[in-house]
Amino acid sequence: MNDIAHNLAQVRDKISAATTRCGRAREEVTLLAVSKTKPASAVEEAIAAGQTAFGENYVQEGVEKICHFREKGEKALQWHFIGPLQSNKSRLVAEHFDWCHTVDRLKIAVRLSEQRPTQMPPLNVLIQINISDEQSKSGIALEALGALASEIAALPNLCLRGLMAIPAPEHEYDRQFAVASQMAVAFAQLKTDYPTVDTLSLGMSDDMEAAIAAGSTMVRIGTAIFGARDYSKK
Ligand SMILES: *Cc1c(COP(=O)(O)O)cnc(C)c1O
Repeated sequence: MNDIAHNLAQVRDKISAATTRCGRAREEVTLLAVSKTKPASAVEEAIAAGQTAFGENYVQEGVEKICHFREKGEKALQWHFIGPLQSNKSRLVAEHFDWCHTVDRLKIAVRLSEQRPTQMPPLNVLIQINISDEQSKSGIALEALGALASEIAALPNLCLRGLMAIPAPEHEYDRQFAVASQMAVAFAQLKTDYPTVDTLSLGMSDDMEAAIAAGSTMVRIGTAIFGARDYSKK
């Protein structure tokens, strides 16, 4: 087994253990493999080990990988855009990705809907919540969720699937769980309002257990699968 296959097996085991511990079914949690900065060859190893959902932070880099695998005839892959999205890059996201996790204003949602090619299925979107209320991070306050959700749900070429957050790093499990639970409450409410909502994108390497215990349905893991990132080329 190569490193990536080995790492993937370990991450899957951790997810299984976490779901078992809190009495949830393993199938309720999807693993998103975050392949930002990693070459297509690394993604290929993950695909060979059965991984199908990949997360990318940089639009151009993500599009290159999507096109690479489309040309190779890989059809079953799902590409998730998880980075900060600027208006001038929205077209590339709308035309290539399957999901966007970082929608946090109506203007970008309208652009994504207008730019989504009509022959493609609607773009799956998550609304990003600034759950730790940090000035530097993107995302909306929970109080603003109701209004933005109803506007996004009305856009023709988007499908509102749920919520995403990047909580501030927190080492204590109880603190991680408290923050994740706030997200879970908002997610449960959104689900009752919109039948398309089924995804809570929450949990990274350090807070995955707490996120899963609170109700996350998608964890985003990069380094533990692909190894440390080298940003010197960026
Ligand atoms: C990079 C990134 C991840 C993965 O982080 P790792 O520490 O490599 O596991 C998850 N979510 C988002 C939004 C990211 O940007």
